[in-house]
Amino acid sequence: MPSPTQVTRFTSSAEATVSGVSSQIESRNPATGEVLGRVPVSSTEEVRATVASARRAQEAWALLPIEERTARLLRFRNAIVDRGEEIVELLSQENGKTRHESLLFEVFPVAEVATYLSKHAAEILSPQRVTLGLAKYRTAYLQYVPRGVVAIISPWNFPFVLSLGDTLFALAAGNAVVLKPSEVTPLVLAKAKEIWDATAGLPRDLFQVVQGYGKTGSDLIDAQPDMVVFTGGVATGKRVAAMCGERLIPCTLELGGKAPLIACEDADIERTARGIVFGGFANSGQICISVERVYAHAQVHDRLLERVVGLVSELRQGDPMTSLDLDVGAMTFDKQVDVVEKHIADAKAKGAVVRTGGTRKGMFFAPTVLAGCNHDMTVMTEEIFGPIVPFMKVASEDEAIAHANDSHLGLNAYVFTADREKGRRIAERVLAGSVVVNDVFVNYAMAEAPFGGVKQSGIGRVHGPEGLRSFCHVKHVNVDRFGTMDREPTWYPFTKGAYGGFQKAVRALFGGGSLAKRLGDLL
Ligand code: NAD
Repeated sequence: MPSPTQVTRFTSSAEATVSGVSSQIESRNPATGEVLGRVPVSSTEEVRATVASARRAQEAWALLPIEERTARLLRFRNAIVDRGEEIVELLSQENGKTRHESLLFEVFPVAEVATYLSKHAAEILSPQRVTLGLAKYRTAYLQYVPRGVVAIISPWNFPFVLSLGDTLFALAAGNAVVLKPSEVTPLVLAKAKEIWDATAGLPRDLFQVVQGYGKTGSDLIDAQPDMVVFTGGVATGKRVAAMCGERLIPCTLELGGKAPLIACEDADIERTARGIVFGGFANSGQICISVERVYAHAQVHDRLLERVVGLVSELRQGDPMTSLDLDVGAMTFDKQVDVVEKHIADAKAKGAVVRTGGTRKGMFFAPTVLAGCNHDMTVMTEEIFGPIVPFMKVASEDEAIAHANDSHLGLNAYVFTADREKGRRIAERVLAGSVVVNDVFVNYAMAEAPFGGVKQSGIGRVHGPEGLRSFCHVKHVNVDRFGTMDREPTWYPFTKGAYGGFQKAVRALFGGGSLAKRLGDLL
């Protein structure tokens, strides 16, 4: 692996400023250590005032037809695309990812979400008729009512798309949004807010950004928004869920992942190896749906491992701002580098072999492949969130599925096979929110399909009709069809005679025996 083009000491923004209560966050470029800018930390009172002003802005926004709302959100999309290079550069500087990744994984999917919503939100949120069984004398439909103010709390690995994707869904559904981005990457969301404010037709208070550490996130929940969407780690997610539980605020939790990749005995070696390398090392492995463990059938294991090691030696790593001909950038957050090093030390102590990588220069961690791994090692059981791909040899696909499901997490999973039918069968047996056959990552970019986890990977779904409707509460509206009588037979007064009639009706409707007998009993 060629050495990084530029390596300098890095101190995370969090460490640089967390000393008691900080009044501002300093954001640094992880590749160079350069200070990029500062944002003030929002006080508790400011957070409360922000939620209150967002609530006022939401009332008028919710009255607009959905088509008008999504048309205005398209203007925001256009402004983002027009200023795409500015965003890409800031993202790569603040986060350490390559400019390809900033464009393709951050700007592109945000633009796609806005486009999807403009085409489909009105239909998805249109009232749905309910077909009634017994009560044919009434009509019923479901109305999707915006919840009000949605608090979005987001992480640092994809600061742009994981903040604005949910924001666009929430706004299209008629809500206001107060966003609390990660303290590690505050500037790019400050930029997004600047673009929002500069776009005609978008009420300033409808989308607002509060900045700060975890305390600001909990202040935001304490300000009693109507829904919380949290994306981040499992431990923080549990704290957020507890706060929401105490206040009875509905929440969606998008938490950690431990995506298995099952390489079947008939898998195409070249495509699978390239899928593993891209799936394991894109964004320096800091993706909740990164390939975090490979279960390779004994028939293909050795060839696949060799090819992966060979491909890794071709990867070019360096400061994203120095060249566009780079595959891997810097890791974002120094605490995450420590996690990666601990996994490698644990795996080596338990018998794993480092086939390539395992070293760091500043925030540049060399893409690392570990062979001979098993479930005694943390690298196979706990989230890595960094550039390590551990390999484990399995004797059968059943064994691979059993290991894949032996996890407290269940976000994404991957199957590589030449037999699509087999791919589908395996996909259906793996416990995960999404399973992709013969590809990696693509499902997240599909705004049409729901995304989320099972087990400790989270609760709820974003994207697709399910995700959009989750930003609404469902109101059942029930109306008479034929005009009304003075009273319904089920209303007061209760009488002995009426009771006997109802008793017969219950037996006729739900009792055993033939239809003829039950009808006879009724008479
Ligand atoms: P994190 O949990 O440390 O922080 C996430 C956000 O929560 C930050 O904005 C942080 O300031 C805020 N926060 C911290 N404490 C809080 C509290 N007590 N109350 C409210 N907010 C609080 O996560 P991170 O390190 O930023 O992100 C990495 C994690 O995110 C990984 O585990 C990764 O798998 C997960 N992730 C999940 C998805 C998904 O879609 N499922 C996507 C990306 C990342």
